[in-house]
Amino acid sequence: MPGPGAFWIGEEEINEVVDVLKGGHLSRYGSYDDPNFKHKVISFEEEFAKFSEVKHCLAVSGGTSALINCLVSMGVGPGDEVIVPGYTFVATMSAVLFAKAVPILAEIDESLTMDPDDFERKITPRTKAVIPVHMLGNPCDMDRIMEIADRHGIMVLEDSCQACGASYKGRPVGSFGKMSAFSLNIFKTITAGDGGMLTTNDDELFKRAFAFHDQGHLPYRAGAEIGGRTIIGMNQRVNEVSGAVALAQVRKLPRILDVLRKNKAQLKSRLGGLPGFRFRRINDEGECGTILTLIFDTEELAERFCKEVGTKVVYESGWHVYAHMEQILNKCTTSSFKCPYECPVYGRDVRYRNDMLPQTDAILKRSVNISVGVVDGALAAGFGININSFEEEIDEAADQVVRALRKIMA
Ligand SMILES: *Cc1c(COP(=O)(O)O)cnc(C)c1O
Repeated sequence: MPGPGAFWIGEEEINEVVDVLKGGHLSRYGSYDDPNFKHKVISFEEEFAKFSEVKHCLAVSGGTSALINCLVSMGVGPGDEVIVPGYTFVATMSAVLFAKAVPILAEIDESLTMDPDDFERKITPRTKAVIPVHMLGNPCDMDRIMEIADRHGIMVLEDSCQACGASYKGRPVGSFGKMSAFSLNIFKTITAGDGGMLTTNDDELFKRAFAFHDQGHLPYRAGAEIGGRTIIGMNQRVNEVSGAVALAQVRKLPRILDVLRKNKAQLKSRLGGLPGFRFRRINDEGECGTILTLIFDTEELAERFCKEVGTKVVYESGWHVYAHMEQILNKCTTSSFKCPYECPVYGRDVRYRNDMLPQTDAILKRSVNISVGVVDGALAAGFGININSFEEEIDEAADQVVRALRKIMA
């Protein structure tokens, strides 16, 4: 079961897609003089840029592609170190490796996002960028992360894939760093089945990102081949059918967020003040509201709670936790480890071990995700409600949690 946007695929998406198919023009490039060109991708980019309060948005083939594109556009390459949190989707790590750079893992704190203190401790003279990941809809502590990054001259790339629509201190996530990546896969706040986008306020970075997303083309929207192409691209283009779905979805985003936040507040109000756990720290009330996380006082309580409601602790959420990313575990950056293109990874010799982030391990072993909008067993959020749940269902889920809490605390 997917994320909230997928639950709300309906007439609007159908109409946008039919509009494209009737015109028969499926490429993102076209002339506004051509009545068959419906410019859905461009419209989506413009509307999302406006929503995100940034100058530029570029639709690409996925969140992973967006991350790779941003790193390449920012000039991250061999020998550079990029600091990433140990709790994130594996794609954050793989994007760094595709850029032939070295991922350096940082601890998370009780917000389940990057611990700013550990970020600062992990900085070396080779550190080129940091990727704060707004996990489970919760924005990172952007005040502190931006302050530390600026002080050390480190570029910030926001991984906003799980937090589309969230804001921090009144500003949308993705508008803080040099660039930001978003995903439209089916588990995210809004979806086009697959796809993603990147945002930036920097004209030069946008030009490079656009070029990289095609075959070096400049951002000339008709797609005519003008000028010399100095960048080698990798084709991450999105077609008009995906653009049509994404356009309908971005228009639903404010309503999706309203419902998620209201449902989460209802769930939370029923559980507040009960003993044995506290809620994950939320860095800003502008979070998405997709997931409610309980952090138990002990690992044993968390385990017993999971048995009662039939779920698992966040530590067991597969490729979201560094300790389960077998792709990188027990490998050294300079000897046994190659980037996914089979190129050697240059840099300091870093070995990835499944116990290298004790603070992250301890927090995740005590954490339990309850679904509010993203129902995903792989996120350890198979239990809870979805965006279409009625008030009674929300109360029923809350009652189930309360009963389980009473039992394990007895
Ligand atoms: C989903 C996700 C990605 C990757 O997005 P895709 O569209 O699946 O490629 C990257 N980072 C995070 C944190 C994600 O949750």
